[in-house]
Amino acid sequence: MLKLAPDQKAQLAAALDCAQQTPALAAEIDRIYADFEAERATQSPRCDQSGKCCRFEAYGHRLFVTTIELAVFHERAKPTAPVVDWDGTGCPYQRGGLCSVHMARPFGCRVYFCDPTADAWQQAQYERFHAAIRELHVRYDVPYWYVEWREGLSVVGVSPSAGPNAGPKPSRSLPVL
Ligand code: SF4
Repeated sequence: MLKLAPDQKAQLAAALDCAQQTPALAAEIDRIYADFEAERATQSPRCDQSGKCCRFEAYGHRLFVTTIELAVFHERAKPTAPVVDWDGTGCPYQRGGLCSVHMARPFGCRVYFCDPTADAWQQAQYERFHAAIRELHVRYDVPYWYVEWREGLSVVGVSPSAGPNAGPKPSRSLPVL
């Protein structure tokens, strides 16, 4: 969903807390990402537009993320890639046209390529690996959410107001894994 109502944000926050209390999830997500990357490597897709797809409004594109991915991502990115000077558009982790959280980026970033030759395999791989991520939520009893990236980040405290020039920082942060 693109926009979360206040009660939905509260429910997502509770789901993230639930994920944070299960340390095994980080390794589970890494295994799914590694399996996907191994298959993607056999396709050798090109990145033709060098980071334009991360400027969502300009590119007409949106990124979505699951509960477990967001929980794992946040704990990894929080100490290494603080968000500064973000105007609220595009991805807050893009710096100088590059991804500042490349190793931790979610599945949606990994699977999307603008290379037209990717059309033949992209959808099938998306569906299969997304299903594996969704199954993790069932297996570990973590409520499943699939939310727009910036809406999800706002729940863990990353928002335009997180920048040093844009007012007070949100107070919420998740417990450490
Ligand atoms: S996390 Fe990285 S790859 Fe994904 S949208 Fe943001 S800058 Fe782009």
